[in-house]
Order: sequence, then structure tokens, then C-alpha cells
Amino acid sequence: MVNLRFVCTLSIAPRDLRMLLCELKYQNVTLKPFDNVLISPLFSRSETIRLVKKLKEDGTIRNLYFDSGGYQVQKGVIGYHALYNHLLRFYQENDWADYYVLPDYPPTSLDSPEQVQQKVRLTVECGRQFYWELPSHLREKTIGVVQGRSLDEVHYCLENYKRLGIKQLGFGSFGTRGSDSGVNILDERSLESIAFIRRHYPEIRLHTFGVGNPPTAYILSKMGVASFDSSGWIKAAAYGNIYFPFTRAYNVSFRRIEKGNGALNEDAFLQLKDLTGHECPFCRDFREISKSRDKRVLHNLLSMVETVESINEHPQVQSVISQWSPNYSKFFKVGKV
Ligand SMILES: [Zn+2]
Repeated sequence: MVNLRFVCTLSIAPRDLRMLLCELKYQNVTLKPFDNVLISPLFSRSETIRLVKKLKEDGTIRNLYFDSGGYQVQKGVIGYHALYNHLLRFYQENDWADYYVLPDYPPTSLDSPEQVQQKVRLTVECGRQFYWELPSHLREKTIGVVQGRSLDEVHYCLENYKRLGIKQLGFGSFGTRGSDSGVNILDERSLESIAFIRRHYPEIRLHTFGVGNPPTAYILSKMGVASFDSSGWIKAAAYGNIYFPFTRAYNVSFRRIEKGNGALNEDAFLQLKDLTGHECPFCRDFREISKSRDKRVLHNLLSMVETVESINEHPQVQSVISQWSPNYSKFFKVGKV
């Protein structure tokens, strides 16, 4: 089985990125959360792009992914054809990344079957045209995006990408929720599509876009997914939530604890630390992590990296997930985990 790779999505301000780098260095953290990084260059500040380029040059980042920004099309921030043109120009002028995601048009849970079909067709046809417009040395670094609600649509994507000879595919059609359908969620249908891709195209390196808390990472790895990108660690921290290896996010914000409002209290926090064997400089003090967003960000990031590093070694993974994230244990069956 391929070792799962966590790709850290850096849709963050340069101030945040500098803070993360400084703190990890200051605390002598040996884990390397920025080995694999994904940015959406069209939607990143030029200061972030410059900083990421420097980190790639000095070896902090080993694998850099340029994302198409299809998520911004999904949210209605930019039209698909504008994205295509800007992205092509950016890729042609910047050949210093390791992976280049082809443009895509993600359907949302609100789309009719006809709308989904049209978006899938656009993704594949424009992706193919984009592929041929790229310089030849970038073509082998491209990731084709598989979209589609039905297995027929997924199959249509696979057949077309196979013909192009693409070596990496990314799956993006997760269920969505949120008022702008902007949050991807793991569901049975998307897992069936992933299993279908693995069966029909076993030699492909499969990436999944935009999902991945710790229990999700475990499910994806057991399904043969090679890599996934997620910004969940930073979003969770902003809402006062923390992960431990293999657990979902739990709220530790002080106000909710004082109200006794469904949050993780200190006893449960210590129990989870013990059960998962997690230690890091940012969660030594429960009071501090419940008050400091930056500490939660760093702790969550390290919990993600630890999850992925110990995915095949942790003896109690399934019982940790069943006990602390029971909503995810139903996926054990779908993925034949
Ligand atoms: Zn920690």
C-alpha cells in the first residue's frame, strides 16, 4: 500500500505562515508539516507566493502543488473561462512547482443532474485542451481532476484522462455543505467513486481535494488514496476546535467550557492525550490551548502529521475512531477498511 501523504493547504496570510515557521523552529519541532504544500496561486497574495518559492528553494517544502482554484469557481468568485486563461498564464510563467492541477469546475450538492453533467464535461474537455497548451515538461506533472456524481461521470473522466496518459488524478466531487456549498464532506457516494477509480485505474496516483480531518485521513489511506490536501487544521482552530491523532475536532473554547456547552473538558482532553500518545509543545497546558488560536493551529497541524505518520502503526486506530469519532466508523464498511 502507498504511504499516505498529507498535503498542507496554505490558504493563509503571510503573517500566519511566518508565525507557524517561527514557532516550529523555536520549539525545535522535528516533524515536518511543510514537506508537502498546496497553494492556489491565483488566489494567493504575491507575498505568499514569494515566501512559498523561497521555502521550496531552501528545501523546507519538498513537494509543492499548484491548485487550479476550482473551489473559487464553485463558490462563484470567478468564472470558469477566466480561471482557465489566468491559470494557463501563471503555469507557463512558473515552472518551479512539482504538481500542477488542471482547471476544473466542481459541481455542488445544489446542482441538478444536467448541471453536474455539464460541469463534468467542461472539466474534462477544457482540462484536455489546457494539458496540450502547457509546455511539454509540465505535462507530466499535471493532476487531472475527476468530477462527477454518478459512476458513469467518473468513468467518463477516467477514460479521457487515461487516453491523455496522465499519471496523477485528483478526486474533487465530495458532498458539500454550508450556505455557499463551500465545505467538502466525506460521504458514502464519494467513497464509492474513489473505490471505483482504484478498481478501474489501479496504477494511477490518486489525490483527494479538500477533505481530511484525522479520521478521514485514515479512511482515505485504507482506500488506497496516495495523498490528500486539507486546510481543516487551521479552520478548526479558528472555531476553537482541536484534533488529536485519529479523532474528529472537539471544541475547547473557554466560553463553551464554562457554560458546560458540549465542549471537551480538561479530563477528557488528558484522556485523549494519553490514548493517542500525542505530545507537542502547544498542548502542554489545557488552559492555554483553549485560549490561544495560534497554539490550536500548531497543535492541529502536528496532530495531522502524526496521524499520517502513524497510520499503519497505531494499534488502536479503529477503537479510537469508534469511540471518539463514531460518525466515521460507518465508513469502515464502504471502504472495506
Ligand atoms: Zn499537541
